[in-house]
Amino acid sequence: MTNHQKTALVLGAGGFIGSHMVKRLKSENYWVRGVDIKYPEFSETLADNFIIGDLNEVDVVISSLKNGDNCFDEIYQFAADMGGAGFIFTGENDANIMHNSCMINLNILKQLNEHNQKKKINKTKIFYSSSACIYPEHNQLDPDNPDCREDSAYPAAPDSEYGWEKLFSEHLYLTYNRNFGLPVRIARYHNIYGPEGTWEGGREKAPAAICRKVAQLQSGDTEIEVWGDGKQTRSFLYIDECIEATRRLMDSDCIEPVNIGSEEMVTIDQLVDTAAKVANKKITKDHVDVPHTGVRGRNSNNDLIREKLGWDYSMTLEEGIRKTYNWIMSQIAKEMYPASDLSNKKYKAYGNCAK
Ligand code: NAD
Repeated sequence: MTNHQKTALVLGAGGFIGSHMVKRLKSENYWVRGVDIKYPEFSETLADNFIIGDLNEVDVVISSLKNGDNCFDEIYQFAADMGGAGFIFTGENDANIMHNSCMINLNILKQLNEHNQKKKINKTKIFYSSSACIYPEHNQLDPDNPDCREDSAYPAAPDSEYGWEKLFSEHLYLTYNRNFGLPVRIARYHNIYGPEGTWEGGREKAPAAICRKVAQLQSGDTEIEVWGDGKQTRSFLYIDECIEATRRLMDSDCIEPVNIGSEEMVTIDQLVDTAAKVANKKITKDHVDVPHTGVRGRNSNNDLIREKLGWDYSMTLEEGIRKTYNWIMSQIAKEMYPASDLSNKKYKAYGNCAK
């Protein structure tokens, strides 16, 4: 580490957004430490130092924060029990989600504050990744007109325990700012997707799950299972844009929580059609009635972030899904033929990557 090199601690650096953030910070010449219970699944971490450890444990948090005689310039807190609707909306994982994620945030803030007090310094900016899931269900009943302005969060009524945990943790970060002056930054992410995100196994989110289902259609098959009636609305933000907005937020002096999302609202059926279009496949939809489809309508409202940071999304959903679909195709190919010839006939049966 050189004397004027900026330093960052990325918690949850083995996950989707965390591993992309590490790459971004390295491209900006930061010295980076990553912490997670696992290494990134899809590419080698670029972090200068990586601690494998559970942030529920105070000792792990204390050693993560140690940076010689110095404090980190920035901390990015992405570590959480996280997944798509099949993980966070079924109710089966609620106790773990709430306990683990609250504990991580409680540990980090307490230890960071004690560390600052010991060093008599308070310069570390800390970013917290909150979620659109904090917004009240009653403002998201009409799929065509959901209200997700930041100030619509109260009176609070999130539709999931995951959302309640995020809201509690937002408050926790804000109290450390008010009582101890910790420079906090909080984003409410709206459905972030893209390459190197979980795409199978039960924790994948809608864009990855749908790309996978379309990619795995065998020739002659057309049917895709879609949860719910397909008319529920959402918006999806491509990972590179999420990282850019997060970096801008960190560099700003904005303390209040802001939405980071896309305003290109689509129905889930339209998301499926977009994946089919980039794959150049004909599909039919089998709508399956499941209880865990989440709110009826959700869209980011970017008025505040446009005003505060001058940031807005720019990538179309089609462009982002094309990149994601191509990456998922490459993962399927790797699973079918680890370290082998990808021009093999069977791989071709799944169709070529989208142009
Ligand atoms: P992710 O699951 O890929 O990453 C989270 C990482 O945290 C994982 O690598 C996991 O191993 C790690 N982790 C969990 N418990 C840990 C522990 N006790 N100790 C150490 N590491 C632990 O999820 P992601 O999509 O990258 O999301 C990052 C953050 O952004 C999460 O807080 C998530 O709630 C939030 N968020 C994400 C989205 C999205 O669409 N991806 C939307 C809203 C909010």
